[in-house]
Amino acid sequence: MTSSDRLSFDAVRVPREALLNRFGDVAPDGTYSSPIEAVSRRFFTMLGTLIRGRVSVAGGAGSATQLALAIAVRYGESRRQFAAPGSTDEIPVLDYLAHQRKLLPALATSYALHFAQQELVAALHDIQTGGITDERAQRELEARAAGIKAVATWNATATIQTCREACGGAGYLTVNRLPQLKADTDVFTTFKGDNTVLLQLVAKGLLTSYRDHFGELDTLGMVRFVADQVLEIVIERTAARPLLQRLVDAAPGRDEEADLLDRGWHVALFEDRESHVLDTLANRLRRATEHNAFAVFNDAQDHVLRVARVHVDRIVLEAFVAAIDRCEDVAVRDLLDRVCDLHVLSVIEGDRAWFMEHGRLSPNRAKAVGRAVNEQCQQLRPHARALVDGFGIPEAWIDAPIARQTP
Ligand SMILES: Cc1cc2nc3c(=O)[nH]c(=O)nc-3n(C[C@H](O)[C@H](O)[C@H](O)COP(=O)(O)OP(=O)(O)OC[C@H]3O[C@@H](n4cnc5c(N)ncnc54)[C@H](O)[C@@H]3O)c2cc1C
Repeated sequence: MTSSDRLSFDAVRVPREALLNRFGDVAPDGTYSSPIEAVSRRFFTMLGTLIRGRVSVAGGAGSATQLALAIAVRYGESRRQFAAPGSTDEIPVLDYLAHQRKLLPALATSYALHFAQQELVAALHDIQTGGITDERAQRELEARAAGIKAVATWNATATIQTCREACGGAGYLTVNRLPQLKADTDVFTTFKGDNTVLLQLVAKGLLTSYRDHFGELDTLGMVRFVADQVLEIVIERTAARPLLQRLVDAAPGRDEEADLLDRGWHVALFEDRESHVLDTLANRLRRATEHNAFAVFNDAQDHVLRVARVHVDRIVLEAFVAAIDRCEDVAVRDLLDRVCDLHVLSVIEGDRAWFMEHGRLSPNRAKAVGRAVNEQCQQLRPHARALVDGFGIPEAWIDAPIARQTP
């Protein structure tokens, strides 16, 4: 069969007994029944079965990204181009800052997403095997899986493309695997739920605080719900809560002189951005009436997506902080700390406009963030190979000739 062939069925009856009937059944007289009485609960129980798919897609996206980075970093160490003046030795391309800028922040973010994925898998395990029936916890897990899936798959698409370019013409050759990784992961942004739609699910959960009727609320219902609440924006930490509190308590505030590598400052900055964005969105939605609810929501849709995006940034950082805290090997811990610095600084750099527009960063400090990203890239350069080796990808799976050349 070729990919253009189709299978079609005509006048085929699916016997009633062959239905997938764990959550709903049809009696011989056509009556529908379900062990779950409440309609919304039933709907979301069935929807919840999609969570594993989304978690798996996010995991698959992470693995493909890590493999692409392993190939590109190895090649970057062995591929030489141009000699410095006065030297005959050509320079490995990974020694160029521009090349480090392509690969190392992406590498750092892949570590961050890896730890977020680990937290997600652990939460899924607890909820689905531990008999946790708390609806709020399930709603939270659904939203978290949706958010991590969206961010991890977009990250895969962008990073694999970057890795392809970082390997030049060799990266375009099928034998070096990057085109295949790109092709295989492209659809991840769409299937198991389109990413844009999934981020709206995340924002809806945050706006309604995952209330029991979370699932029943359509746009109008949700907007009304927000309007009726004196919404108190509370940032709920997802990991390492006491540690995060200690870090934030010791954070230097918005002091211009604060150390750009202060973890407490990072956590506080991400929390502050999320609560501000969520708070201002709730205020915008409160203006809605029964007649203009859709228009008000639609006018704020970029704001809705932003709420979800900055929320995911915050929970990913929390997962990274928690993973560093768990690490017992001092040298590894120190390296992870620096990787986390690069991840956070590159996120801040990517969102400099917002931080400046909202008075969270002065122009001078924003420039300093850019310089700090450069410094972190240069400092992590000697560890790049160890970091991709740290993904633990079996050698046989890194089946790309460009990844096998001696530096
Ligand atoms: C290879 C592949 C395998 C699949 N396998 C399965 C499967 O096994 N089972 C299954 O049930 N489904 C499957 N799907 C379907 C998949 O879940 C859907 O394609 C996906 O949910 C997106 O829906 P759509 O294609 O209708 O996109 P559309 O909803 O048409 O989206 C098109 C564009 O519109 C945007 N958009 C849509 N709604 C909004 C909105 N409210 N606000 C802003 N923007 C919006 C989207 O962001 C997107 O950019 C598969 C899809 C693919 C491509």
